[in-house]
Amino acid sequence: MSITRVSIDSDLCIGSSQCVNTAPGVFTQDDDGFGLVIPGKEDGAGDPRVPEAVRACPSRAISVEED
Ligand code: SF4
Repeated sequence: MSITRVSIDSDLCIGSSQCVNTAPGVFTQDDDGFGLVIPGKEDGAGDPRVPEAVRACPSRAISVEED
């Protein structure tokens, strides 16, 4: 199983920044502090910390698809 797509539901994100702190190579924040997937890193960039970021998100806003 490998991650093929990472996304953040902006309706759920509360801007806690755990995703950025956990996997800064995949996640960033917008000007208001809400989480974003870095453009071009929507495939998770092979970063093993992505699943940890999913678990760390307090609002369960991060989704991953796996093949
Ligand atoms: S950890 Fe979750 S709630 Fe916090 S900024 Fe990232 S996506 Fe948003």
